[in-house]
Amino acid sequence: MLDDPRSHGLWERTAPPAPVTAALNDTIQSDVVVVGAGFTGLSAALHLATNGVRVVVLEAAEIGFGGSGRNVGLVNAGLWTMPDDLPEALGPVHGERLLTLLGNAPSVVFDLVEQHGIACEATRTGTLHLGVGKKGTAELTERARQWQARDAPVELLERAETARKVGTSHYASALLDRRAGTIQPLAYVRGLADAALRAGATIHTRSPVTGAVEDGAGWRVETPSGAVTAQWVIVATNAYTARPWPEIREEVVHLPYFNIATVPLSANVRSSILPERQGCWDTKEVLSSFRFDQAGRLVIGSVGALRGSGTAIHRRWARRSLQRLFPQLGDIAFEAEWYGKIGMTADSLPRFHRLANRVVSFSGYNGRGIGPGTVFGQVLAQLVSGQIGEDDLPLPLTQPEPQRFRGAREAYYELGAQIAHLSSRV
Ligand SMILES: Cc1cc2nc3c(=O)[nH]c(=O)nc-3n(C[C@H](O)[C@H](O)[C@H](O)COP(=O)(O)OP(=O)(O)OC[C@H]3O[C@@H](n4cnc5c(N)ncnc54)[C@H](O)[C@@H]3O)c2cc1C
Repeated sequence: MLDDPRSHGLWERTAPPAPVTAALNDTIQSDVVVVGAGFTGLSAALHLATNGVRVVVLEAAEIGFGGSGRNVGLVNAGLWTMPDDLPEALGPVHGERLLTLLGNAPSVVFDLVEQHGIACEATRTGTLHLGVGKKGTAELTERARQWQARDAPVELLERAETARKVGTSHYASALLDRRAGTIQPLAYVRGLADAALRAGATIHTRSPVTGAVEDGAGWRVETPSGAVTAQWVIVATNAYTARPWPEIREEVVHLPYFNIATVPLSANVRSSILPERQGCWDTKEVLSSFRFDQAGRLVIGSVGALRGSGTAIHRRWARRSLQRLFPQLGDIAFEAEWYGKIGMTADSLPRFHRLANRVVSFSGYNGRGIGPGTVFGQVLAQLVSGQIGEDDLPLPLTQPEPQRFRGAREAYYELGAQIAHLSSRV
């Protein structure tokens, strides 16, 4: 995308083409303007259009250009945060509401995939959160207890069962979450765009929003070569926010995360790794993830940016890690590599903001955006079309709070990941 093989990597090469869209070149009217064509914006547009609301999506670059087209593709239930921490941080009403919404989020994703026939390599065999050592197992045991208290279908696996499911005896335990699964993320976001267009939404790509002014009649949302007037604006720009709402960007610290894909594995090697095709990540602080794509490529990822000295360091780390986990891979060739930025809030929780009268946003997903973006987009559609009020939302209304020393912390994460990966392996 935009001629950068390190932005969307494998997903760009294997996703079905994006629907044909063009830049906005006119002044048009709508009921709602959505800014940003990722999971959040396109889910909002799809649900609005399905309900007969006129909606125009304005995207600065291409469909799925942000996190939505670059991620690992783990369709998780819930957040990084421990379940019990949510009612504590948000109060019992919002906390339990958010847990219920996000616990069901994978179902919403997979139902949309089915309903709209989205070809995105969806697998529903769950995810495995892999426990490293005693500390990792203690964390997963507590996580399992808290989800099971809410009747969630999660199961703590001991070492032997984990080894059978993953194909390595490296991990002490695993939390199997049967609600979850994997998708090809760029294919999913393009499929959402296609479904939104078919439902009657309009999408303009290469149309960066440069400003928005309110007059008596509503909002006039400007791009370099056109404008849309509408009653409501949904800002769905998240970690890739460019102007004109910089407060969304200032509230998060960017954490870089990369992925490297092998060539397709031979049939017998493939069957010895993740035979049920769960997506995985581990409990380490500098965490790693791995999963298969549909063609049998193994995709391994971790914290770090593939630029400067990071490219060679993280590539070597990926090779050492794969050889340790799955020696049967031998000196496997890599086929694609890419990275993106995850927006981390100060307390690891997402945010709902009213940026101005009838200008609303959800943001700050902390690396959990497939399920959350899809359901938050749906919730925003319900809010602006009057089906629910702000009091019914899963998050309280807050003011954006800039994080301090962002630049320094972002440089520290990027460099710290290189140091961590210099000589280590999974
Ligand atoms: C490397 C990586 C791995 C991840 N892994 C996972 C995972 O496995 N599972 C998971 O659930 N989540 C994961 N995430 C997080 C997830 O990808 C994001 O939370 C999610 O994509 C956010 O979706 P969104 O629609 O809110 O924002 P985005 O997809 O970032 O979309 C925002 C869009 O807004 C556009 N934009 C910005 N400014 C303007 C403007 N002024 N005018 C018009 N358009 C504008 C951008 O170009 C962009 O396309 C990962 C993220 C990364 C980066």
